[in-house]
Amino acid sequence: MTRYVAAVDQGTTSTRCIVFDHAGSVVASAQEEHRQVFPRAGWVEHDPGEIWGNTRDVVGLALARADAVAGDLAAVGLTNQRETAVVWDRATGEPVYNAIVWQDTRTDAICRQLGELGGGADRYKERTGLPLATYFAGPKVRWILDNVEGARERAEAGELLMGTIDSWLLWNATGGPDGGLHLTDVTNASRTLLMDLATLQWDESIAAEMRIPLSMLPEIRSNSEVYGEGRKGGALAGVPIAGSLGDQQAATFGQVCFTPGMAKNTYGTGNFLLLNTGETAVRSDNGLLTTVCYRLGEEKPVYALEGSIAVTGSLVQWLRDNLRLIGGAGEIEAVARSVEDNGGAYFVPAFSGLFAPHWRSDARGALVGLTRYVDRGHVARAVLESTAYQTREVVEAMDADSGVALRELRVDGGMVVNELLMQFQADVLGVDVVRPRIAETTALGAAYAAGLAVGFWADRDELTAQWAEDRRWTPQMPAEQRERYYRKWQKAVTRTLDWVD
Ligand code: ADP
Repeated sequence: MTRYVAAVDQGTTSTRCIVFDHAGSVVASAQEEHRQVFPRAGWVEHDPGEIWGNTRDVVGLALARADAVAGDLAAVGLTNQRETAVVWDRATGEPVYNAIVWQDTRTDAICRQLGELGGGADRYKERTGLPLATYFAGPKVRWILDNVEGARERAEAGELLMGTIDSWLLWNATGGPDGGLHLTDVTNASRTLLMDLATLQWDESIAAEMRIPLSMLPEIRSNSEVYGEGRKGGALAGVPIAGSLGDQQAATFGQVCFTPGMAKNTYGTGNFLLLNTGETAVRSDNGLLTTVCYRLGEEKPVYALEGSIAVTGSLVQWLRDNLRLIGGAGEIEAVARSVEDNGGAYFVPAFSGLFAPHWRSDARGALVGLTRYVDRGHVARAVLESTAYQTREVVEAMDADSGVALRELRVDGGMVVNELLMQFQADVLGVDVVRPRIAETTALGAAYAAGLAVGFWADRDELTAQWAEDRRWTPQMPAEQRERYYRKWQKAVTRTLDWVD
């Protein structure tokens, strides 16, 4: 009897495995953090071997906690930090370099040079939906081939494979050098700058310009189909691996945003607001990305507009790890509540430049508006408020691109336990903020995609019926105050631009 569906959520800071039952409730889970490697300013790496090891650990642990074995699982779904790129040897499974993480800005020069071929940052926008920016995977692979000794020769000889984290895990989980499947899905592929949004295939001319051999690229599949099964001897031996989506698309799926006009915002390491635009790939005039939302098997793809913000929850970690102003992320709310307001301080965390809607890699972070009066509490507030203001910038771009004003915002992610932040978010947006009962929407979305593929759940209507509201925050701030604060924020943003020569 298959009672459960499991999901692996390989995030930027940690890897989780969650076992869900048919009602979409969490039966058991396990989580492990991995090392963040910062070799230089602007560089962020992960060890792909550590991530694969953690994945195996959390799967084993979650199954044990659920008192389950592989035979209890109808399917397993996968979801992952997007854009982070790995290059490895197909014969040995050895990565040739650490994974280059989505926040890493080392490809700035590569992106600029590609833009100089004509078209600037918009060179590939029509075909891929994306601006040429350090965020995306393709230029990261190019960097590895250009900078790791012998890598280009080995790649051209067909010895190396590339992939985002989904491909890396899927290849290992299905056998590695011993017959592992080299696949990716449409959502992850849509973040490489290498996939044509209309055909959902690799654009060979872009790959050629980026000097990435086609033999390295995985095959692109839908988000919900049986790709293969867990390798013999592993904890998932024989279990169909039947769903895979990038984490933000998975959260959108888990929030059951199945109809055009529905949107969710995830508050994790960064923030990612996705709006379902149905079968139309809407082009943005306001700094948003056009991306694949999901594709189920042979169905037509569904597209999304996305506002990506690089630094939100990671600013809270920075306050903890680099400034040691708080002992843990959970402490920030009490520290922020020790004062009435931000005391005039605004924190623009442009640590990886600014993503949406600005796309300025020349920006760097700034804490402005300081006086002798400002204390630890005000800084904690400025940190939390920066997440809410950055979200408002994205919501305004979304309203302008879609022509429809957002009526309420569905939220999820690690930061949404923060009541002060959620109330402030409702206040600066002027719309309700709504948190669902199951906060683990990313893992849930991957489980849903996998479960649909094997018939564990019948259809999307059944999933929609499972969504339930947990908590709602309603705006309380007077409109005049909201606009005054926001104008100050916009002024603070201008102080961060043109910083890098
Ligand atoms: P990811 O999936 O990107 O790894 P999560 O969704 O697990 O991230 O969220 C983790 C983030 O949430 C961390 O960056 C952490 O700083 C932040 N966070 C956790 N608890 C709180 C809190 N109580 N208040 C504010 N931020 C928090």
